[in-house]
Amino acid sequence: MTTHPFPFERLRTLDNFGHSLKAQSYLYRPTNVEQIMEVFKTAKQHGLTVTLRGAGRSYNDAALNGGGIVLDIQDMHRIISWNPETGLITCEPGVTLQKLWQHILPDGWWPPVVSGTMMTTLGGCLGMNIHGKNNFKLGTFGEHVVELKALLPTGAEVTCSPNLNGELFHAIISGMGMLGVITSVTMQMKHVYSGLLHVRAWNVPNLEVHIQELLDSAPIDDYTVGWLDSTASGKGLGRGQLHTAKYYKEGEDPEPKKTMQVAYQTLPATMFGVFPKSIIHYFMAPFMINPGVWLINTAKYFAGMKDKTYPQSHAGFHFLLDYVPDWELAYGKTGLLQYQSFIPKETVHDAWREILTLTQKRGLPSYLGVTKRHRPDKFLLSHAVDGFSLALDFKVTNGNRAKLSAMLQELDQIVLEAGGRFYFAKNSETSPETAKRFLGEETVERFKALKKRTDPNNLLESDLYRRVFGEL
Ligand SMILES: Cc1cc2nc3c(=O)[nH]c(=O)nc-3n(C[C@H](O)[C@H](O)[C@H](O)COP(=O)(O)OP(=O)(O)OC[C@H]3O[C@@H](n4cnc5c(N)ncnc54)[C@H](O)[C@@H]3O)c2cc1C
Repeated sequence: MTTHPFPFERLRTLDNFGHSLKAQSYLYRPTNVEQIMEVFKTAKQHGLTVTLRGAGRSYNDAALNGGGIVLDIQDMHRIISWNPETGLITCEPGVTLQKLWQHILPDGWWPPVVSGTMMTTLGGCLGMNIHGKNNFKLGTFGEHVVELKALLPTGAEVTCSPNLNGELFHAIISGMGMLGVITSVTMQMKHVYSGLLHVRAWNVPNLEVHIQELLDSAPIDDYTVGWLDSTASGKGLGRGQLHTAKYYKEGEDPEPKKTMQVAYQTLPATMFGVFPKSIIHYFMAPFMINPGVWLINTAKYFAGMKDKTYPQSHAGFHFLLDYVPDWELAYGKTGLLQYQSFIPKETVHDAWREILTLTQKRGLPSYLGVTKRHRPDKFLLSHAVDGFSLALDFKVTNGNRAKLSAMLQELDQIVLEAGGRFYFAKNSETSPETAKRFLGEETVERFKALKKRTDPNNLLESDLYRRVFGEL
């Protein structure tokens, strides 16, 4: 009998954020670079692959590695240096956005780009090059990186910046953790004069107005994001609600010291002052069926008929989804998937109309639709366009899995025809052909050439990488 090199006590079943995909792997939680090197050595010796994992908040198989090793970098979570004069911060990759903003806000700074959850790690945010509700203005997360250090599977340690090893810099950021392990990052934070934002919320009655108002608000506001009621059809197709926000100017907030305190930002622990938030998902669960979501969406739309303006904390505005912990559990045991596509502004009208109509025709409407305005960026595996994104959450059941998968592939064709792109942190259906079409052959070749250089033995692989790039 051969003995396996990896002890069984390391074997774990890991899943994606939506709990709809699962894979068994050997889990390691390194605390330093030497331990990562050791794992690479052992993996090479025994012919196993390695996937990097941050907080596992990707909606798909990006941080899964069936049968291989998963390196969870969350224990490398030191803030190495912080300069409140310049706003430059250097961190290990396991630092979360939560730890980051809580460290810097009392000094009058905020991360320039954040995701809709603060649980994500800097390593994960760089691996996917995340965008925020201000993508049209400040670009992606990677655009604020001054310098990063990465450990390559060859054992080499490299320092990259936009000007030093620039090609590698623009590929490691967005590279899905497939070129090397980011071991530290230095970023420029954004100066703010208050812990509050001026927020405006208003309804948009249909697709045309929805797109037009996202477009119009983008140059004026600092953040803009739309909720799209994907159950509405006919004249109301594409209706929803926009939320925009602007920073406070210097002197506008009479108590900036108070509003920039972490305690002021922290989301309340109970709903209506009574129910612990940790049990809310149980109450949501019965509504997570087509008629239930239609009812909630319709009620939400009509409740929002009156325009509102109000001050809101940064954390409250950005991390609304964290307000209900474990909300994804409301989707049930088989979970959810997210499908996010990015479509140029010239073709977005027709493409969104087709996408929404098709999901309704197939009887698989999305239960949550979110829209954003974007601008292109220079990173190798970029998902952004000069246009808009539509993120659609779909409930997965054992009964609908195959039908859903077929429909998402139909949606891919609509997006490709419209000249659109996809995001490797979200979609679970992107095929090698789709990736090649939206990235272009030259980009795929450049990525493969870099991978050969940084990882000649293909140690870094994930389920996502094998699915999309395995055959390219
Ligand atoms: C509720 C919710 C809201 C979200 N909102 C947004 C949003 O607004 N905008 C947006 O862009 N995304 C959003 N996302 C997606 C999320 O930001 C990304 O999937 C992000 O990559 C997750 O970070 P993580 O730490 O969980 O990384 P993981 O999901 O664990 O990993 C993501 C990728 O990064 C790689 N990686 C991890 N660590 C390293 C490292 N040290 N070096 C190199 N590569 C590494 C992994 O291999 C993997 O490919 C959201 C997700 C959720 C659940």
